[in-house]
Amino acid sequence: MNVIDSKRIWLSSPHMGGTEQNFVREAFETNWVAPLGPNVNGFESDIETYLENDSNVAALSSGTGALHLALILLGVTNGDEVLCQSMTFAASANPIVYLGAKPIFVDSERETWNICPRQLEIAIKDKIAKGKKPKAIVAVHLYGMPYQIEAIHEIASAYRIPVIEDSAEALGSSYHGIKCGTFGDLAILSFNGNKIITTSGGGALVSKNIKHKEKAIFLATQARDNAPHYEHSEIGYNYRMSNITAGIGRGQMEVLDSHVANRRRNFDFYKKHLEFSSEIKFLEEPEGFYSNRWLSCIETTSYELREGIRLALAEENIESRPLWKPMHQQAVFADCDAYLNGISDDLFDRGLCLPSGSNLEEDDLYRVVSVIKNALR
Ligand SMILES: *Cc1c(COP(=O)(O)O)cnc(C)c1O
Repeated sequence: MNVIDSKRIWLSSPHMGGTEQNFVREAFETNWVAPLGPNVNGFESDIETYLENDSNVAALSSGTGALHLALILLGVTNGDEVLCQSMTFAASANPIVYLGAKPIFVDSERETWNICPRQLEIAIKDKIAKGKKPKAIVAVHLYGMPYQIEAIHEIASAYRIPVIEDSAEALGSSYHGIKCGTFGDLAILSFNGNKIITTSGGGALVSKNIKHKEKAIFLATQARDNAPHYEHSEIGYNYRMSNITAGIGRGQMEVLDSHVANRRRNFDFYKKHLEFSSEIKFLEEPEGFYSNRWLSCIETTSYELREGIRLALAEENIESRPLWKPMHQQAVFADCDAYLNGISDDLFDRGLCLPSGSNLEEDDLYRVVSVIKNALR
């Protein structure tokens, strides 16, 4: 097979269920072509029902915007420090900088690849000893695998530091049956094009506190005070979700569970066909952890092998990608403090994300597996 006649296999592409266009058409027919309307309210209520646990959801224009507002709701401001998982997408950390605050990066642990409780506590104690208590903790469920919920929240409450749960990659994941997105003081979701469901672009803020939802919507719609004219006593943002994209989201909520099932099927398929090799390792779910397997990832035995597999896949028109490059390695965050144990650096060197879309067919998965088997020889 060569690049010209083989179909491109993407890492994670949008997967429409079929009813999205009905919601969008209805928005056109009723002229709700605005950043408010029945689809926005309906999408919020669909997510609230899905997440349970008294969730209140504000639909926004992106997950990044949701994180920005979450930090504002927690009072993060110029000169503050915010602890943030180092191994993540830059969007977990960027909004900290928008506010003139400083991210303090914390390394990962091996069981979930997420923020390490030991390093987190070391960082908190060190910062307190230096006279500056961090304002918040951004913890991430990377690739859909929940972080060490109990250990992290125990530390957070012991030191009374609020947690922002970055659940952008983990809609459909859970811990002991409780949905990710409901553990943090605030949580965020993303509906970007490559996520488990997409609105083409969008995000949400989740909180048990209805006041958080109301305040987020107020800030997301330019912080307009209650007056007949435009009156402002606070700086606002234009972060509300459009009623058109929310229509896509309502259709996508109908297929979320089947997307999770398909992504988990991808992971099981890769594992079944590749676990014979001592050179490839899979991240297992610890007891009580349930991952949506947003991306299926493998750990190889060396940087060279990882690159060999990645380039062999590229040669066959198959997209794959190294794991997230830790934020403490990024030039843009070079002057930020970091509490490290070497684990995220090591994972970045040896790890690879495989094609993981819920729309992959069995033939696609066989193609991926056969290229990897050849590269292993
Ligand atoms: C996608 C993502 C975000 C940002 O969401 P957008 O909707 O793309 O702004 C934040 N954090 C993580 C971990 C993500 O993967």
